[in-house]
Amino acid sequence: MVTKPIPKASATTLHPIVNTAPDTASDAYLRALLLQSPDVIAVLEANGTIKFQSPSVKEVLGYEPNEMIGRQSFDLLHPDDFPHVMKVFADLGAQPGKVMVAICRFRRKDGSWCPLECIGKNLLDDPLINGILISSRDNAQQRLTEERLRESEERYSLAMQGTNDGLWDWNLKTNEVYFSPRWKAMLGYADAEIGSTADEWLNRVHREDVAALQAAIGSHIENQTSHYEGEYRVLHKDGVYRWMVTRGIAVRGKDGTMNRLVGSQADITDKKRIAEMLVHDALHDALTKLPNRTLFVDRLQNCLSRGKRNKEFFFAVLFLDLDRFKVVNDGLGHVMGDKLLIEMASLLTSCVRPEDTVARIGGDEFTILLDGITDSSDAIRVAQRIQTALTVPFALGGQDVFTTVSIGIALSASGYSHPEELIRDADNAMYRAKSSGKARHQVFDSSMHAHAVALLQLETDLRRAVERQEFRVHYQAIRSLHTGEVKGFEALVRWQHPQRGLIYPGDFIHAAEETGLIVPIGWWVLNEACRQTAEWHKTIPEAKGLTINVNLSSNQFAQPDLSAQIQRALKETGLSPASLKLEITETVVIENPEAAGEILRQLRELGIKVCLDDFGTGYSSLSYLLRFPIDTLKIDRSFVSGIGTGTENASIVKTIVALAHNMGMDVTAEGVETREQMLHLQHLNCENAQGYLFSKPVSPERAFDVNPTVSI
Ligand code: C2E
Ligand code: MG
Ligand code: MG
Repeated sequence: MVTKPIPKASATTLHPIVNTAPDTASDAYLRALLLQSPDVIAVLEANGTIKFQSPSVKEVLGYEPNEMIGRQSFDLLHPDDFPHVMKVFADLGAQPGKVMVAICRFRRKDGSWCPLECIGKNLLDDPLINGILISSRDNAQQRLTEERLRESEERYSLAMQGTNDGLWDWNLKTNEVYFSPRWKAMLGYADAEIGSTADEWLNRVHREDVAALQAAIGSHIENQTSHYEGEYRVLHKDGVYRWMVTRGIAVRGKDGTMNRLVGSQADITDKKRIAEMLVHDALHDALTKLPNRTLFVDRLQNCLSRGKRNKEFFFAVLFLDLDRFKVVNDGLGHVMGDKLLIEMASLLTSCVRPEDTVARIGGDEFTILLDGITDSSDAIRVAQRIQTALTVPFALGGQDVFTTVSIGIALSASGYSHPEELIRDADNAMYRAKSSGKARHQVFDSSMHAHAVALLQLETDLRRAVERQEFRVHYQAIRSLHTGEVKGFEALVRWQHPQRGLIYPGDFIHAAEETGLIVPIGWWVLNEACRQTAEWHKTIPEAKGLTINVNLSSNQFAQPDLSAQIQRALKETGLSPASLKLEITETVVIENPEAAGEILRQLRELGIKVCLDDFGTGYSSLSYLLRFPIDTLKIDRSFVSGIGTGTENASIVKTIVALAHNMGMDVTAEGVETREQMLHLQHLNCENAQGYLFSKPVSPERAFDVNPTVSI
């Protein structure tokens, strides 16, 4: 490490100005200077042993100069500085006359560390000194601070070059603003194109955002905020506004006065755009681009608030539901269904004013908020306008599609306080419009509310009835019009209500279907009817070949495990498949034509017969129904009751019977009440009949009571 041979420390090798008496005045002068110098001066031997030490060491490190003599100077070094100093010392020792500088920490007598800037000079060749002269100064701290400052400035300038943000520095004393080249580039300008006044910035900020930006800076200056942050639009050189966010902080002097404001600016245009898109998507329907329920409710809430402040402000909610949308969707496919909804959305929008809101709030459900109307006639006029517009078909992919809507109207005049109440009442009115014959509109009145409440009560009771098994099956005979014998029975459900007594299906089947409760009820009826029939087969000799007709609702029909459930019921009750006939309506088939075809084929394979119930009340044509494997047509009571009244119903019945026979089906007439009807049906060669003329639906105990007055 140390390259030169190390002479032994001895008194004779010490410098004469230290050890010998002054021989001249200038020597004395130099000696005084040396002893008074605040710098710590030491002479080291080539191996680092101290051979001279100036008195200032006492003040700087706390040691007596004498106790330093003969000590190894490296022993006082901070361990972390040791390697570096050793290297410097070795280099220094290698070259006579060389000067080197090192900053390092020495241990004070009290154990603390003192940073010293040490300048060393190799004077080993100097016959007078014969050592390494070290002059140390306690300004190392200052040097360190300077070093750190330089580093920090370097970092700042690197950061400035590296960051994507634009930087600005506002000197509040001169009112000059330094804008970094990046700041200017963000606005599309070269460095020289933007000066250094605050107006270069503020004049480009969007009119609507200037006040907020100034307020944010203002309240920071007044010391109300630790820093400030603000978003604003700023005009780019290309004439388009960009969204920026600026963050800044005030720099205060020691006396607390503010000297500068410094900050950064980042372009958040893309972020803003994405955020706006997300907000838009959250409030709009993706298919039709109309507002969705959330936005509709929000606007409705606004109207409600305005209505509270201003008693003259009226508005209305229209609830629209497409009639038979499912038929389009299933029949023509989902793509067509989607197209229809899109067309519908633009038709509705064209029927209202721009300040009104058209929203899509469900599959085929739309709502309209009429913002500010004079009275209910305005709302009715809009409903009529929509219905008139719909008399023209939509051209969807080259196909003309007619559609109608049922519209319910709720008026603000009824004094609502929650948006949902208006929507609910408009929905109830729509429901009423639909059940009174589609393509209609209906204004909500409070009796509808009472009806809706009753419906809710009914649903609750129905659920309980399912749990408590309050249902019964009654049986109505189906007789042969050729022989008069009973061919079988139709199972008809009744509800034995604990308070209301026996309730007929007309009063609860609809609610059961709406709530899905028809599924458990229907399965129970199927099981019970099969069980009862199997029992009759076993116990009553004349009941041997009797069949049982069970009604299936469309909800049940849509169950994926339908045929498995039926098979299970047959197995558990021991009834043969040939004894079971399932009654479905046209709607069931039309609502799921593909699934229906498949299920009907499965049932046929099992040997179960299928009847088309209430035939003639639906929309379908016989030729359409040809596609499906159906065994029996049941002509609806409304046609049968027309027989003998001179209406055209009688000839319709004739046609239906003939067509059914051509298609290989047999025919059962429903609701036969008179002898005349019976004779007419016999004449038409109709196979079977069912009706009060023969028997009403009765409890199982009375099923075989014969009506003696009827003979075939
Ligand atoms: P539906 O299947 O067409 O049943 C025939 C309806 O006509 C029965 O009404 C029956 O009582 C009635 N009826 C029979 N003959 C005559 C007559 O000569 N004159 C008059 N005025 N009416 C007659 P009900 O029992 O009230 O059932 C009504 C409807 O409820 C049934 O019509 C059927 O669609 C449905 N339904 C009944 N039970 C069930 C069931 O277990 N499941 C399902 N899904 N629906 C059922
Ligand atoms: Mg039936
Ligand atoms: Mg029927």
